[in-house]
Formats: sequence, C-alpha cells, structure tokens
Amino acid sequence: MTTVKLPTAKTAVLTAADCAIPAGADQRLPLPAGVRPFQLNWPNISVIGAYHAAALLAFMPGYFSWSGLIVAALGTHLCGLFGINLCYHRLLTHRGLKCPKWLEHAMVIVAMSCLQETPARWVAVHRRHHQFSDEQPDPHSPLAGFFWSHIGWILVNQPELARLGIYERYAKDILRDRFYVALERNNWLLWINLGQMPLFFGAGFAVAWLSGETPAGAALTGLSIMMFGVFVRTVLVWHITWAVNSLTHLWGYRSHETDEDSRNNILVGLIANGEGWHNNHHADPRSARHGHRWWEIDNTWLTIRVLAWLGLASDVVTPAAHLAAPRPGKLTTRGTTGVPAD
Ligand SMILES: [Zn+2]
Ligand SMILES: [Zn+2]
Repeated sequence: MTTVKLPTAKTAVLTAADCAIPAGADQRLPLPAGVRPFQLNWPNISVIGAYHAAALLAFMPGYFSWSGLIVAALGTHLCGLFGINLCYHRLLTHRGLKCPKWLEHAMVIVAMSCLQETPARWVAVHRRHHQFSDEQPDPHSPLAGFFWSHIGWILVNQPELARLGIYERYAKDILRDRFYVALERNNWLLWINLGQMPLFFGAGFAVAWLSGETPAGAALTGLSIMMFGVFVRTVLVWHITWAVNSLTHLWGYRSHETDEDSRNNILVGLIANGEGWHNNHHADPRSARHGHRWWEIDNTWLTIRVLAWLGLASDVVTPAAHLAAPRPGKLTTRGTTGVPAD
C-alpha cells in the first residue's frame, strides 16, 4: 500500500513557513517559523517539571515500594502500547486499522491519561511531522538539535501549531467524531489526569487495608502506588515517546532509502514496543506493522494481531509489497500526511 496524497484542496495553501529549507550536511536545520527560543510555554514547563520532581520523589525512602515500581512498569507498557502506539499513532493518525468505537474511545482515554495532548492535537502534530519530516516545518526534527527534538519543542510556543489552524489542516477527520470534539471543549485532558490520582491512591489503599495494614500504613501504600502509577509512569511514557522523535531520526540503520533521516533504532524498537522501527514506518506510514524483519520485534503489531483474532480489529494495513523490491533513487515519503483521502 503506497501513501496517498491528500487532494490539492486539502493540502491547502502552503504558507511561507512551509517553504522547506533542507538541512545540508554542515547546516543546522532552522527551528520552525515563528519560534522564539525564549517565548516559553510556562504551563507545559510547570507541568512537566512538577511531574519529573514527583517521579524522582517516588524513589525516596518513605514513598518507594516494590509494588509501586511494578505498577509503574506495567502501566508504562500497557498505556504506551494501547494508548499511544496502537490508538493515537497507528489507528487514529495513520488509519492502519479499525477498531469498534467503544474500544477506540476507551484507548483514547488511556492515551489521554499519559498527558500527551488530546487525540486531535496529537494526530495533527504527528501528521505534520510526516508531511515535513526533517524540514523546517517539522515540529520536532533532531536536525534542529537533539534537545529541541526530545523536549524543547514542547517547552516553547510554536505559532505553526496553533490549535485551529492545525486542526483545520490535519485533524478534520478526527473532529467528525463528536466524542473527540467534546474532549477538546471540556478540558478532559485535565480532568482525566487529575481523576486518575485518587483512583491509584484508592486502589493501593484498598488492597493494603484488606491485606491487614493499619489505615496509616495503607495510606502510605496508596500514596506510593499513586506516585509510581501516575507520575513515574507518565514520565517514562513521555520519554519513550519523545525518544521516537529524537533518537530515531539520528541513530540507527536504514532499511529503506527514504527522503528524510528516519532510522530503525534497536533500543527504541524494544523499549517503545515497535515504534523504534521508524525508518520502516516512514517508508510505509499506513502499515500497522512497523517491524519488517523477523527479528524486528513489534509488540504493538503482535497486539493488533491478537485484537484481529478476537474480532476487535479489522481493515489492518500490512507492509506494501513494493518495499521489498530494490528501487532507483530515494523513496518519496514527504509531502503527504500518510493518511488516505476521504
Ligand atoms: Zn519520524
Ligand atoms: Zn507516524
């Protein structure tokens, strides 16, 4: 399956900022148009800073518990895999599969609990990344700097990512679903992330209390489960997702000669449940399977196969046959959002 260009009307008018400036070997890619390094996004800086501080605090005596660590590890694995990889990325952004609406919406709630934006915004930013990969309008190319691509791009205001403009251009299909419109309008990102705190605390407290701990001991266990289940997990999923943006456009091998700098990175491939086979992904964005070789383990793909077997996933897009054939020149992957026209 090749990527399909959106019709001209939908690719819409290219702004001056979209005039791509490719990075030469000796030239650092300029930051996206309008970005001023010191126009900081204080809400993002505050929240990201507070979560990192709370995550570190979780490892201090008094808060640390092995059960908390297990909750964080399991939560990182499951929320990253189902919420971010399977739902936000392969399902909503690239339409590589379909799921029943109830399941799709449930996975969106899981994704939102990772504090990585609403579905419309996540999808819009990522489609822009595919359209302008490693060119100036790319929201987070490491050719503009490693720190920029990993976290810096979230800490400043990016005029080109202003909500209405980017939604109009990249997320119309998402906002046809009234559920996703409601999530935008009612600040659900905040409520879901605040709401999970008492949930984790309550679950930890209940299990400890039922196991015979005193109320004070159970409260401390509940606090530890909340610190690991919310803050440590969120920070881990953040850095794993951000590593896909930063590491896999810098280091790794290339199986496909694409016209950007995407790489297959073994470390990210393993810790990000298949998202690190990023050169494969750019070569064929719609495919729900990112690992192409037998040893490119792709847990997200394996999960999609299980869902399909259970009747919970359909229209699953597999790697395009033409990728196996040698080709002259580079494979064009830029200039399209990687989603089918509708
Ligand atoms: Zn990429
Ligand atoms: Zn993608």
